[in-house]
Amino acid sequence: MSGENCFNVLDKIFVPKNKKPIEEIKGYTMKYGNIVENGNIVDEVLVSYFKAPKSYTTENMCEINSHGGNIVVKKILELCLKNGADLAEPGEFTKRAFLNGRIDLLQAESVIDVINAKSEREAKTGIKQLEGFLSKKIAEIKQEIMDVMVNIEVDIDYPEYDVEEVTNKQISEMLDSVQSKLEKLEKSFDNGKIIKEGIKTVIVGRPNAGKSSLLNAILKEDRAIVTQYEGTTRDTIEEFVTVNGIPLKLIDTAGIREAKDEVEKIGIEKSREMTKEADLVIAIFDASEELTKEDLEILDLIKDKKTIIILNKNDLEQKIDENDERLRKVSSSIIKISALNKTGIEDIYDEISKLFNLNEINLDQEVVITNIRHKNLIDKAIDSVKKAKETMEQKMPSDIIAIFIKDILEDLGNITGEVVTDDIIDEIFSKFCLGK
Ligand code: GDP
Repeated sequence: MSGENCFNVLDKIFVPKNKKPIEEIKGYTMKYGNIVENGNIVDEVLVSYFKAPKSYTTENMCEINSHGGNIVVKKILELCLKNGADLAEPGEFTKRAFLNGRIDLLQAESVIDVINAKSEREAKTGIKQLEGFLSKKIAEIKQEIMDVMVNIEVDIDYPEYDVEEVTNKQISEMLDSVQSKLEKLEKSFDNGKIIKEGIKTVIVGRPNAGKSSLLNAILKEDRAIVTQYEGTTRDTIEEFVTVNGIPLKLIDTAGIREAKDEVEKIGIEKSREMTKEADLVIAIFDASEELTKEDLEILDLIKDKKTIIILNKNDLEQKIDENDERLRKVSSSIIKISALNKTGIEDIYDEISKLFNLNEINLDQEVVITNIRHKNLIDKAIDSVKKAKETMEQKMPSDIIAIFIKDILEDLGNITGEVVTDDIIDEIFSKFCLGK
């Protein structure tokens, strides 16, 4: 419970073993006792106390730790509600932390990211954001704009004062610098998206090339963490796997598994559909046989995609190799493996890291944008910078230029939530689960 009166509600339902009055209880302590209703014990509990302003929401807060289980928890909740508490909306605790100024909107959003993280890397990015990494970066950029803006404003409002005139050179240097910083942030979104959503990957190949063997080799990696999702299109399943620190979102792995018995199921048409939305195609060929007509069709299908070509079954006598022009034409990433013996699998991971510059994502130093809302606002801010530059080129008066510069500040303020509207706040917090 959070709020000015939460201790009053607690007082009505909780009897601590040592009957210390609530005002003597210090924050960051726990008390042992019973939740009671009409003199009857409901459960034996521990209650943690947080006193304003030193709490998650900055309000008075308490947390009841009961034995758990549906019935008792529900009963305690009912008692709280009956004695004056209201049920929290999704994300309400974090929302209050934001509205009470303890964290900014960016940090609030990163709470969801941390909770929903599917990989260690994603959780790490979320934590960095929670620490205020991106907020600081945005604040720096804003300060740079403000320094110039203040002088422009003085110029406009008090032309009679002899303040040092802001030169066009100063303004355009500031705009250049701000633009390059924003573009760097914007670019980081590609990496951010990979961290958050994984590299959308499909494995294609004709029947018996070794798709399911490769899939098994990947999924059976010691450190593979697998989470299954409903795919975006009906009857596909997406699997989120982190192998060697690489987040992969494997599309329609179920299709590959099912196809074992019904070979025709995963024909060219289906591959065409699947490859369309993929960031990465892993095309697997049976190197112990000549390329078939179907292999050539697959090669044609993927020629414009980011592709890794796998020559499988290198434990058998080889009929095709990496110098084959028909393969090289499609991709220079050609890797020989034996899915059966699980050799060469590491090389695939190295190649993926190379193709997606994963080794360059240095989470300890770089600020990475992972949220589409932030990306859109940064795009918008870049547009405003460009517009401000245009107005300068057209030799517009400084009060017009100032309007566009204010737009940049507003776009940036929207990211951290200083000037954000209620609708946006509601939308952001509605993505939270209850009790967060
Ligand atoms: P899919 O139809 O593309 O999913 O292919 P599978 O993974 O089911 O493999 C087809 C057959 O090839 C199976 O009998 C596998 O045991 C065999 N196979 C797969 N990979 C290798 C390999 O690297 N070497 C050898 N010798 N056989 C393999």
